[in-house]
Amino acid sequence: MNNHEVSPKHPRATSLRIRVQLVQGFETGVTSLFGLFAHGRGEAFDYLIGEITTENARRAIRVAAACLLLAQNPVLSVNGNVAALVPKELVKLAKFSDAKLEINLYHPSIKRAKAIAMVLRSAGAKEIYGTDSKFHETIPEIFSDRRVVDHRGLFIADSVFVPLEDGDRTEGLVKLGKQVITVDLNPLSRTAQMATITIVDNVVRALPLMIEFCKELRKDSDDHLRKIANNFDNRENLSEAIRLINERLRILANTKSIQSTGE
Ligand code: ATP
Ligand code: MG
Repeated sequence: MNNHEVSPKHPRATSLRIRVQLVQGFETGVTSLFGLFAHGRGEAFDYLIGEITTENARRAIRVAAACLLLAQNPVLSVNGNVAALVPKELVKLAKFSDAKLEINLYHPSIKRAKAIAMVLRSAGAKEIYGTDSKFHETIPEIFSDRRVVDHRGLFIADSVFVPLEDGDRTEGLVKLGKQVITVDLNPLSRTAQMATITIVDNVVRALPLMIEFCKELRKDSDDHLRKIANNFDNRENLSEAIRLINERLRILANTKSIQSTGE
């Protein structure tokens, strides 16, 4: 593997380190070439947000944690980007929300699914769904190759966590009546707009927080969790996320020395 060392003195070291994780994911067959494009799009929106978890995102993360805990059959969907960026966090989140982990790729490949399963196993995952064709089921509401899901996982799930998801599939999952929770830096994407709960944040910042909320909220009663879940309006959440970007840009446009990120 190539050496992609990032100097800690580089002003954008954090962002570069995340990029390196994805490039290494690509080199080890975990991330697809298309995934790298998706990451670039995410980075652009992260710049606009200020590379911080906003209060707006934090609220959505707490609601998402409550919903996963309330679900009968929660499933965390894993693609090549999240496997490269947050494998340990995915395994922890599955543990603390009692959710299943399912590998589901937009550009399906048995080889890549195996590479992702290996990454998840070394991160501590015991059971991984989506890799055994014996359990494959086709969802007609989805038109892409990604319509194949695991009968024991996404197919029967009531709540699905699909970070960095494609719009068509999100729409298909919503049509099937599933609660769809996503993490998407672009509040304007079709996924962000279609999902039941949209966390407008970088998945590397959102996942650790989601784990913390799950740990904290799993001690609470279902009644309390339901109160948290019901006190949330995704339309309003998205409007606020867009307003925050707008407001930030307005302030930056009127500031002489531009501090581009929140770091
Ligand atoms: P859509 O299909 O939902 O309209 P799209 O076609 O623009 O979106 P996709 O490649 O289908 O994009 O989905 C990937 C999404 O993930 C993009 O909206 C991108 O901004 C977002 N994204 C990329 N990297 C990250 C990240 N690290 N954290 C959170 N979101 C990210
Ligand atoms: Mg898309």
